[in-house]
Amino acid sequence: MVDRYNPQVIEHLVRPRNVGKLERPSGAGESGDAACGDVARFEIGVSSNRLEDVRYKVYGCAACIAAGSALSELVRESHLLRAARVSKADLEGELGGPLPEGKEHALTLVLDALHKALEDHWNREAGTMLVEGYGKAGANG
Ligand SMILES: [Zn+2]
Repeated sequence: MVDRYNPQVIEHLVRPRNVGKLERPSGAGESGDAACGDVARFEIGVSSNRLEDVRYKVYGCAACIAAGSALSELVRESHLLRAARVSKADLEGELGGPLPEGKEHALTLVLDALHKALEDHWNREAGTMLVEGYGKAGANG
């Protein structure tokens, strides 16, 4: 059983990366665990299907803050589909191994927030395409 944080976790805690908000995000997502009180918010800036910029805010325990920082580093400047495929195992790797007992929720929390931000971006894009294609669409159905 792991009962203390890896050095990588401490490093992200002491110097969290990419904290904050974006001026005009392409997508934003929030996830929260009412029981634990942790809330994570991710904002992404997308250009040519790449995550040009990622900002996050985490209100929660140390593990959640470190996980947010590590995830933002993992997906920054990567292709959207690659970012969407980042797994708990990838994130654990970035954090130097499994989190202490009872802290695994941090991985789910930040991944969920990122996925919602990606979804938000794709929904906005789909909305734009629908509006643009509206005039051409047939009215059968
Ligand atoms: Zn937490």
